[in-house]
Amino acid sequence: MSSTKPTAADAVARYQEIRPRLPEAVFPKTSIQRENLAALCDDIDCFVLDGFGVLNIGDDTVPGAVDRVNQLRAMGKQVRVLTNGATFPATTTRAKYQKWGMEFDAAEVISSRDALAVALKEQQTLRWGFSALPASQLETLVPNAVLLAEDAAVYDGCDGFVLLGVGAWTPERQALLETSLSKNRRPVLVGNPDLVAPHPGRLSQEPGWFAHKLEDENLATPAFYGKPFDNAFELVRDTLDGIKPERIAMVGDTLHTDILGGAQAGWKTVLITDHGLLKGMDVEKAIVESGIRPDYILPTT
Ligand SMILES: [Mg+2]
Repeated sequence: MSSTKPTAADAVARYQEIRPRLPEAVFPKTSIQRENLAALCDDIDCFVLDGFGVLNIGDDTVPGAVDRVNQLRAMGKQVRVLTNGATFPATTTRAKYQKWGMEFDAAEVISSRDALAVALKEQQTLRWGFSALPASQLETLVPNAVLLAEDAAVYDGCDGFVLLGVGAWTPERQALLETSLSKNRRPVLVGNPDLVAPHPGRLSQEPGWFAHKLEDENLATPAFYGKPFDNAFELVRDTLDGIKPERIAMVGDTLHTDILGGAQAGWKTVLITDHGLLKGMDVEKAIVESGIRPDYILPTT
């Protein structure tokens, strides 16, 4: 497998390799095919939408997504966004959607960074080294954040590490982290469990990709925050008082994060096939091989 430019097939295969590290869930025996989310309105009261692959592909919206969100709201449905993006606070994500014409309240956009922040609240005094960007507003997470770069001594001086976003992460930085952990094992927290994210014409490697490599090499036992882990679903659940789990749908493009996570939460699950990770792949084959079966399969949002 290429370590620099993973294909979607690489990503699905890698998700299967790390499956023992993911939550367990129960799945339906068959999936129901529908046109789009509006066709599910008799069965679902709240739609929890993934970002990449459902609302947007890189910096472009998924065709029709803006109108669909507005349509669902007009039908009286609750709408939430649950994204594994952690590089920036959810307020930044919300502003991005607003720019595209999708209006969400602050409480309606929840990110894996929010789940990480809950964990970091208990560990504020530690000196955490972050893989992040200068604009990642680390001060909103912990008071003494260290932005990791090329200085090996800085890695050795940290009490623990947070893989938040890897937009500026390099093989050199990963090697520095591995060397430092090999000398002194410390906690590693992961703000985005995704292995890859879809962009037009390519996949980017995400924090989960690098975290699992550390675990493969027995350098750390990373703690993951975000889909498919329940810590992210818990935050959404807190905003959905009174809605039965079977009337909530997790809508996503990735079997091992959105669909597995939604199923472990006891929600219905909806796989979008035309815009995200599985675009152009044999979807049924991926479902059968993984055993991760959604309740519904839709070409688009
Ligand atoms: Mg996605």
